Amino acid sequence: MRTPLVAGNWKLNKTAAEAKALIEEMLPGLEAVTNVDNLVCPSYLAIPAVAELLKDSKVALGAQNVYWEEKGAFTAEVAPNMVAEFCEFVIIGHSERRAYFGETDETVNRRTKAALGAGLIPVVCVGETLEENEAGRTDEVVSRQMREGLAGLEIKSASQLVVAYEPVWAIGTGKAAYPEDASRVIGKSIRPVLVELFGNEIAQGVRVLYGGSVKPENARDFFSEEEVDGALVGGASLKSADFIAITEAAA
Ligand code: PEP
Repeated sequence: MRTPLVAGNWKLNKTAAEAKALIEEMLPGLEAVTNVDNLVCPSYLAIPAVAELLKDSKVALGAQNVYWEEKGAFTAEVAPNMVAEFCEFVIIGHSERRAYFGETDETVNRRTKAALGAGLIPVVCVGETLEENEAGRTDEVVSRQMREGLAGLEIKSASQLVVAYEPVWAIGTGKAAYPEDASRVIGKSIRPVLVELFGNEIAQGVRVLYGGSVKPENARDFFSEEEVDGALVGGASLKSADFIAITEAAA
């Protein structure tokens, strides 16, 4: 039985002061929901302030990206151990990183290995574009992203990894996938690759989230799908009432 995880990706939103205010507003509502894990991923600069407020809470903290080198002449990059000082999780390979910042399956793989090496739990994002979807290439693209992004990874337990299936055309568009389609892609192109890479026992325990225009109105439909173990939420994670309602729907 996989405990649902509802994760918020705050993207390029909220100063440290605003992030503190948002977490203060949502924390009591999140704490009131049992049997669901929560994660919030603010911008790097807001992480220390939010970490203070999340101490001793059930809400985990994550970063939105991480570099693979430990130190050196890599201006503006953030190393895995720097993230691990404050965070338990890190999002890797979000489609906005792939589309705007040249992220590839190879760089996803390097970041994921480095994150694991620092004891972080990577939330690895995969998903097809609209063009790929319309060309009937979803399964080919998603299984390739899984195989190449996670190649050579060593994990000893399912709790060390989270995967997010995020069809690119559903992110920030208000146009979510059909829950049964999301579940089908996870069952056909994500879970079997996890089995291939890590064996059945670990693969069955890895949480696979759906992401793409999840809102309080559609969250329950996603969570009632057997293969959907929670959500990676963008826009709605910035509104405390919505993020709490999505968390309640997962319970
Ligand atoms: C995301 O950024 O991962 C995301 C799913 O965004 P939204 O919920 O706004 O579609």
